[in-house]
Amino acid sequence: MATSFKQIEENLKTEAGKLLDAGKVSMVLAYGRGYDEKHPLPYVARSLADVDGMVFNEYCTANLARYLVRYPRGTKIGIAAKAADSRAVIQLIQEDKVKRDDLVILGIPVYGMKNAKTDEAIDAKTTCGLYNPVIYDVLLGEEVHGQPVLSPYEVLEKVEAMGQDERFAFWKKELDRCIRCYACRKACPMCYCDPCFIDQNKPKWGEKSPETGGNLMYHLTRFHHLAGRCIDCGECSRACPVDIPLYLFHKKVAKECEEMFGQAAGMSIDEKPALINFRVEDSDKILE
Ligand code: SF4
Ligand code: SF4
Repeated sequence: MATSFKQIEENLKTEAGKLLDAGKVSMVLAYGRGYDEKHPLPYVARSLADVDGMVFNEYCTANLARYLVRYPRGTKIGIAAKAADSRAVIQLIQEDKVKRDDLVILGIPVYGMKNAKTDEAIDAKTTCGLYNPVIYDVLLGEEVHGQPVLSPYEVLEKVEAMGQDERFAFWKKELDRCIRCYACRKACPMCYCDPCFIDQNKPKWGEKSPETGGNLMYHLTRFHHLAGRCIDCGECSRACPVDIPLYLFHKKVAKECEEMFGQAAGMSIDEKPALINFRVEDSDKILE
């Protein structure tokens, strides 16, 4: 039996309060009330008085690891992390963007999260399909067991069955709909380059207005910047106002990386990111 959302919220408040009261962290990244219960917002508690504003429900899908890189190195931060979020935390530690010692990870074991736009349950279609955080200091509920274990890559079947021309036409049609709001980039915990290549003017890497060439440049570069780094939280796809299925491309690249290098992103704090870790036995397929 999984811990209820309400109980997780209570446990989150209790543990965040303890951390702030003891001075172990200077802030806790969690979720707070939005304009209705379907739209909770990322929330920062800096004092005991702020803890009451925390919420947790099935719509708390945002990946809070997105905000870790915003604070100066050395800031002691508590962070609420569901399964995929915890993989982002690990990936950021691997990339030396944050230090393990500066974090207190409040792990959230949970299933039944929902997409606020569609009310569909979020499962392995758009996420990595894990229920329990990979890393944590405090667990805010019972570990989830007995739920279906689904491959995050099953959803690729249709795209993988396409020939090269059909696949290109599929992606061109999808990416032509992009309005370049950059919500996908904003939602992504691994998109922290400042400035992003597409915002640069000297050199100008791609057209900034939404048109085919610039859209392809932005997305294909972003997809490949995230190779071996995307932890499959699905937040980019949920953030997209025109519902481009970005997760399909990210999953395809993740699957190939996993096949070539034998590791999925953000699964172990002791590993280095796949694309900066040379091993003699690594596949050379990437060079073909
Ligand atoms: S690319 Fe999308 S699915 Fe991957 S880590 Fe970023 S937001 Fe999550
Ligand atoms: S969120 Fe969607 S519309 Fe906005 S830039 Fe990303 S893909 Fe394009």
